[in-house]
Amino acid sequence: MDLRITCIPGDGIGPEIVAEAKKVLEKAGEKYGFTPVFTDILMGGASIDAYGVPLTEEAVRTAKAADAVLMGSIGGNTATSPWYRLPPEKRPEAGLLKIRKELNLFANLRPALLYRELAGACPLKEEISRAGFDIMIMRELTGGLYFGERRTVVENGVRKAVDTLTYDENEIRRIAVKGFDIAMKRKKKVTSVDKANVLDSSRLWRAVVEEVAEDYPEVTLEHMLVDNCAMQLVKDPAQFDVILTENMFGDILSDEASMITGSIGMLASASLNDTKFGLYEPSHGSAPDIAGQDIANPIATVLSAAMMLRFSFDLDKAADAVEAAVKKVLQEGYRTADIMTEGHKQVGCREMGSLIAERV
Ligand code: NAD
Repeated sequence: MDLRITCIPGDGIGPEIVAEAKKVLEKAGEKYGFTPVFTDILMGGASIDAYGVPLTEEAVRTAKAADAVLMGSIGGNTATSPWYRLPPEKRPEAGLLKIRKELNLFANLRPALLYRELAGACPLKEEISRAGFDIMIMRELTGGLYFGERRTVVENGVRKAVDTLTYDENEIRRIAVKGFDIAMKRKKKVTSVDKANVLDSSRLWRAVVEEVAEDYPEVTLEHMLVDNCAMQLVKDPAQFDVILTENMFGDILSDEASMITGSIGMLASASLNDTKFGLYEPSHGSAPDIAGQDIANPIATVLSAAMMLRFSFDLDKAADAVEAAVKKVLQEGYRTADIMTEGHKQVGCREMGSLIAERV
């Protein structure tokens, strides 16, 4: 079976980490009977340098023709790069916003997983981190407060700003279905997070999530207010499996959840539409400060590729094997510079990729 994957190496460390994820996917293909067929496109600064725009229409067409997209990261040093002297719509990030919109990616998935081997990096007390945690945050990405009507006016000499938070039931239903589908591949628990004690949009959210839950009798559903969820994440993160929430709450909670893992180079992410199509990328940026030195941590990108196997291709066994290979390499004591601690073996980006590939 051929997997048609469009790759966006991007800028900074992007090309280095994507090369390692490709290596791991190729190895997984040999073992699990598929052939990844990669087509690279330019986006971000690399595309600005080549074509004068952060994403060409041709590149969008190539991405749409694939089964999934694997991305490194885009952007440069925002203080010094000439890309940031361009108008906002010509800057590297405009390419990312455009591709998300063109591909209709409304569901954002960000796992926050604490590896036992890296527990020392977790900023929580040992008695909390000891239990470990493995949380999947499912955030609605194209509705809510960030996409509602907004204006700033002056009324009777007083400046006033208005933002609106709108969701219709269809937008809620499609993200809830994704959340429950993903819970079925995990520990079968969904915590739906809202502010239903105050907001109408949250009361509709809660009602629709309950309707969707009826189709998933095996999944346990609980509701939690967003302020409580923010506290519970640092008090008892082990209680969560899938956290399902709207755009702004998800923005804030997913950053909090990544923070408690303590290691940015390890965090994968996926953005999905209503088919199996998805865009998979590490949660971190393009790290221009360490680009080209073979010291970047490729694990977040490798784990994003594992998410691609699981969610776009239903190749759960291959995804499990990639995730297990990452764990094995950590257990054997290999570390890139960002997660290096005393008594371990420091390796570069390429070697880390090869070590993982060998263990798939
Ligand atoms: P960053 O995530 O690139 O870097 C923050 C710090 O973490 C840096 O010290 C960096 O060296 C380190 N780091 C990040 N990833 C690492 C890895 N895999 N291995 C080892 N160390 C790693 O964030 P930033 O410096 O704020 O942003 C740099 C550029 O990335 C900016 O242009 C920003 O706009 C862009 N960015 C892009 C995306 C994306 O493409 N989705 C996301 C975030 C930031």
